[in-house]
Amino acid sequence: MRVLKFGGSSVADSEAIGRVAAIVARQPGATVVVVSALAGVTDALLLLADTAAAGGNCQPGLDALLQRHDAIAATISHPQRRQLAELSISGFADSARTTLRAIAADGRTHPALLDKLVAVGELWSSRLVDAAVSDAGVESHWVDARGVVKTDGRHQAASPDFEATVKCLDRLVRPWLARQRVVVLGGFIGSGPDGAPTTLGRGGSDYSATILGACLAADEIQIWTDVDGVLTADPRVVHDAQVLPVLSYEAAHTLARFGAKILHPRTMEPAAARGIPVRVLNSFRPDATGTRIGPAVIGGAAEASAASSRADIALVEIRLDHAPIEAGAIARVFGELHDAGIAVILAELCDGRLALAVDAAADLEPLQRRLSGHTTVQVTLGKSAVCVVAAPVAREARLVFDALTLLGTTPIHLMARPAGAATLGLVVDTADALMVVKQLHDGIVARPCSPAVQGVA
Ligand code: ADP
Ligand code: ASP
Ligand code: MG
Repeated sequence: MRVLKFGGSSVADSEAIGRVAAIVARQPGATVVVVSALAGVTDALLLLADTAAAGGNCQPGLDALLQRHDAIAATISHPQRRQLAELSISGFADSARTTLRAIAADGRTHPALLDKLVAVGELWSSRLVDAAVSDAGVESHWVDARGVVKTDGRHQAASPDFEATVKCLDRLVRPWLARQRVVVLGGFIGSGPDGAPTTLGRGGSDYSATILGACLAADEIQIWTDVDGVLTADPRVVHDAQVLPVLSYEAAHTLARFGAKILHPRTMEPAAARGIPVRVLNSFRPDATGTRIGPAVIGGAAEASAASSRADIALVEIRLDHAPIEAGAIARVFGELHDAGIAVILAELCDGRLALAVDAAADLEPLQRRLSGHTTVQVTLGKSAVCVVAAPVAREARLVFDALTLLGTTPIHLMARPAGAATLGLVVDTADALMVVKQLHDGIVARPCSPAVQGVA
């Protein structure tokens, strides 16, 4: 049994959806298809929410979205399937309109209402893909993902409730797979214990795919996107970045946490826990071999090198009146962060200073308030977190030396080894981040076997 996930650019228009249907049609055996909203639709819905909250007119924007989806529905050749797709699209548009009215009445973008609104993007796209797959001659069945992926209810950053999700899948998905139907559903969305729609965070359809793969004990999870696989760096930053044919779960997880947009930061968790292989493939070039992500083979080819960076990081520096900081005080800081749902991307402790890199969007005020007293907490914005994952055999011993020599005079605000000896994490000024990625890529990733710094033995 396989789970196939298609991202926004892979379902951007009727041509792209046609390619998806062709890829699905050639799958052997039971298949679950998870789709993101059409490219740009989630952003457009969020923009409409801001317009509604500010008292603006959302009608033209919503009409444009409706027309874009209707135009794709119009290309479905089977009359009944086309009619069903058109009806559901207009039904979901009505629900978006109602939610926008509620946002306007509230005068603010409450996270619960935002989740309810953006869910419409994946509901629209999954209905279209379901119709296109059936149109291509494959018997398929659409499922409302809000009723299947059960979560803890945290809006905009929900965590899965695996037990509840397994039960829903047994009821709503397995019987269709047993009947040889392809099941199509939206990624990114689910619902909390009270039934209210939740989302898994931006880019969350990748995570939906591995959650569903783990709950269904899939043999393989495929992430279909717009590049040939996981590359040694973001190709928009490093133009000659190379495809990594194999990658360990851990390296993929680290790259994703450090901003490699190709995978939602939590994508690897369910797959690694179950040992399910993940393949990253290009829907525009379906015959390219892509990247296979699986368990690390000690000393084997699964140890790859790559670099990535993530902007919008806040550097939090906590200083006590007296050094060293006691373990209990550090535990309290991490406890507060955990309770507030704030993930620590990098941490470094030295004498009286605890430095943390966290998402700049996190609300750090309650933490600052609670820690005030004998502690000073300083938050600096405008930072980026950069990581380089180096093939350990070649690099381990001198990774820090090579990296810092390459970066020369670049200011470094925090340095740590987040995933063991073969990984280096840095916090730098955002203005320097892309240059740092390029330098680390060219000096370390692209030259795994030769000294990065010429002239230094
Ligand atoms: P999708 O819509 O399929 O989910 P995304 O835009 O979320 O696609 O992710 C794919 C994009 O991720 C690529 O087009 C590329 O620009 C970017 N990216 C960032 N880092 C990497 C990397 N290391 N390897 C491949 N792509 C990357
Ligand atoms: N449509 C959602 C987003 O834009 C989820 C995804 O694309 O994976 O964030
Ligand atoms: Mg994505």
